[in-house]
Formats: sequence, C-alpha cells, structure tokens
Amino acid sequence: MIRRLALPSGDVVATLLSEHGKWRGVARKGKLPGGNLGRLSLFHDVTVQFYRRHDDDLALLTQVRLNGALPNLSRPEVYPYAHVLAELADALTVDVHLGEKVYAYLASGLRGLNRHADPELVTLAYAWKLLGLAGLAPATDRCLHCGSEGPLCRFDVAGGGLVCERCGGGAPLGASAASELQRLVAGNLSHTLKRPPAERPLHWRLLAQYVAYHVRELHSLTLVKAVAEGSPPAGPAATGEASAADGGSRE
Ligand SMILES: [Zn+2]
Repeated sequence: MIRRLALPSGDVVATLLSEHGKWRGVARKGKLPGGNLGRLSLFHDVTVQFYRRHDDDLALLTQVRLNGALPNLSRPEVYPYAHVLAELADALTVDVHLGEKVYAYLASGLRGLNRHADPELVTLAYAWKLLGLAGLAPATDRCLHCGSEGPLCRFDVAGGGLVCERCGGGAPLGASAASELQRLVAGNLSHTLKRPPAERPLHWRLLAQYVAYHVRELHSLTLVKAVAEGSPPAGPAATGEASAADGGSRE
C-alpha cells in the first residue's frame, strides 16, 4: 500500500501497487469483516478482496489480509525514507503500467529499509533504480554531449546526465561525487549498499532536482533533502504523519 487517505467519514482510500499495476480502493469504516482499518497502514504488504461493479468505479475493499509487517518502517528515523520510495513509485506509475519490476523493486526496497542499518543509503540506491526502471536514469558512463569518457565533472539535470569539463553546462560536481553517482545509478545494488557515498546532502540534492525535473516534485523527497542539508522545515509538515496525509490529499 503506497498511499493512504483517511476521509472525514472514517473511510479510508487506499492506493495499492501490485504486480498487475496500480489501483485504488475504498474501505468503509467498520465494514471490513473481522478486520480493522489498522491493517490498511502505509507500506504494509496486504492481500485484499474487493468488489467493483464497473471498471472505472473505485473498488470496495471487502477483506484485507496482512502478509507481512515491516515494523521498523514506522520508526521515525526510517519512515520518511519509506515515504520517498513509495511516493516515487506512485509518481512513476501515474499513466503507465511499468510492470512487475516496479512492484518488486519497491517491495525489495521497503524490506531493505526494514532491516538495513543505513536506511538513507538504501533509499538513495533504490530511488535511482526505480528511475532506471521507468527509463529515466541519467547517462553516467559517458559525457552526455560529446560521448567522451571524461573526466566527467558536471551534472546536467535537465539534459539528464554527467558531462565533461570541455562541454560544460550543468552544475559542477567533484570527481568523487561523480563516481558515487555513477555507482548509485548504474552499479549493482548489493555493491552499492556496501559502499555508501561520502557526500550525502549533495546526493539528496541531485536526486531531488532530478526527480523534480523529470517526474515531479515529491513532498517526501523535499523534506528528506532539507533534513540532510541540516535545514528541516518547521511545523507539523515536518512529521511523517502530516506528509502522509498531504501525499494522500494531493491528486
Ligand atoms: Zn563532453
């Protein structure tokens, strides 16, 4: 379950991502047999039964079975990262069905967040992989403009890739940050998870700029970037719950 919107009536509208695509269903307050709406929590892996009269109707959820809880995702130091991956998967599947892989990567990423000691690294690595699945990975092996192997020391967000000094354009990036980005974007996941990038605030900034340009601005990512840069926004919007509610209401 990647998005949850609690209505004033007490009903819950759930956005679910499965191997078969993304769809939405509503659970009526007090109408889930044997269950409570607590099973419909964000990021839970659930099996649902539903009823839908027409294809374009909102499905009515009639049963929800919890397959596996990922208890650490509700911890305040992990929750914002889970929200980034879920919101990104949601944004990447607005009008397209990207197939089973997005579901598999998101599920794998959430399980990784649940058990890995470095949820920030898991999120950076999986976010770039999700973008890659959607065909949106930046070019990192060669200069975007001249095709040379570099040294690649600038990142062109709009153009979508690393560029060399001779071609110019984009924003300057140190050599080590550039190779870290190459690893995050194109590296093998298990290797990436063993070699955390040194300049984390920079990588959050690159990811947030890239996603905002090529997908859309994600509230959860903006928050995480601000925290990584040491300037968390004040007020209730900084909490996970508030960002979840906000994510749910924006559609
Ligand atoms: Zn070049």
